[in-house]
Amino acid sequence: MKNEPRIDADEVLGGIVEWVSIESPSHDAKSVNKVVDHVEGQFKDLGLKLERIPGRDGFGDILEAKTPWGEGKGILVLAHLDTVHPLGMIEKELKVRREGDSIFGPGIYDMKAGGYIAYYALRHLIRQGKRTKLPVTFLFIPEEEVGSPTSRSRIEEAARGHKYALVMEPGRDGDKVVTSRKGVGRFTLSVKGRAAHAGVRHQDGRSAILEMARQIERIEGKTDYARGITCNVGLIRGGTGVNVTPSECVADVDLRVPSQQLAEEMTHWFLNLEPIGKDVELTVEGGMNRPPYQKDAGITALFEKAQAIYREIGKELHDVPLTGGGSDGNFTAALGIPTLDGLGADGKGAHAIDEQIYYSSLVPRTYLCTRLLETLE
Ligand SMILES: [Zn+2]
Repeated sequence: MKNEPRIDADEVLGGIVEWVSIESPSHDAKSVNKVVDHVEGQFKDLGLKLERIPGRDGFGDILEAKTPWGEGKGILVLAHLDTVHPLGMIEKELKVRREGDSIFGPGIYDMKAGGYIAYYALRHLIRQGKRTKLPVTFLFIPEEEVGSPTSRSRIEEAARGHKYALVMEPGRDGDKVVTSRKGVGRFTLSVKGRAAHAGVRHQDGRSAILEMARQIERIEGKTDYARGITCNVGLIRGGTGVNVTPSECVADVDLRVPSQQLAEEMTHWFLNLEPIGKDVELTVEGGMNRPPYQKDAGITALFEKAQAIYREIGKELHDVPLTGGGSDGNFTAALGIPTLDGLGADGKGAHAIDEQIYYSSLVPRTYLCTRLLETLE
């Protein structure tokens, strides 16, 4: 048994660091494609069937890797290769470094560690001479951090052909995974008022900013923590000069809701907003961009399988209470595919300059992913 391959934490970390060292902000297709090239080469070496779908709208390529074995509906593994961090972070605030149990780097937690863990898990099975019972498809997404606009249809198409979805997004707070997520909506409000000289003809002006301010009060007031609804006016722009009554103002709103029913209710509410002041026009555009991911019987059963696997290494797996953060898991779960998310490395600081993973989580998380791939049927 001496030469039996084992999951080696340093080996897993080495592979993660290689991925992290290729910086890949969502809007930089060229940089994202460099990491896609690297991952493509690794899956090619494992003998997987590859398909690379050229990027569009300024985003990188989608990479699909399928096991040559297995028939029928299998396991879809989702990971994204883009990060929120601009190029150069790796030389500044987010140098790849280790401090105790923490390893820092841009996108290391969200979610290059998770993507690499999935790759390593399959490689680990192959080098033990094992195969998964079901066919496995890995889908690497180039622009998840901006809402997967160019890959959503591909994710949904792939999900329909699979029995399970495993999403390698960051793990949570020590031995926790994700079994539900809120839906995410995006709305843009545009107000048209009337410009006038703020000193000479103030009475002729109609301030688009004032109207927007009133709308914002109304929108933020729809936040209802008890029902799990949040509305955030996160961006606003308007006006042309301090001495001109502003004729235009635009604001962008982020909506989070826990259920499909509330998604519909709130979408209807937004799209039917009326102006509050006189002589101003209001238009609202937008809708849900990620449907809610609700824990159902299929998801519960899949989570219980994961718990049983974790017990093999003497650990207890939990799921987090409904999270407000969306992922590509929202798309697969909304199609009724049992989806387990948050399977990546444990850590903290997603999207922040203290982004880090915990070394101690690498072996248990890789074990969990390996055994899910091996045993799901
Ligand atoms: Zn992510």
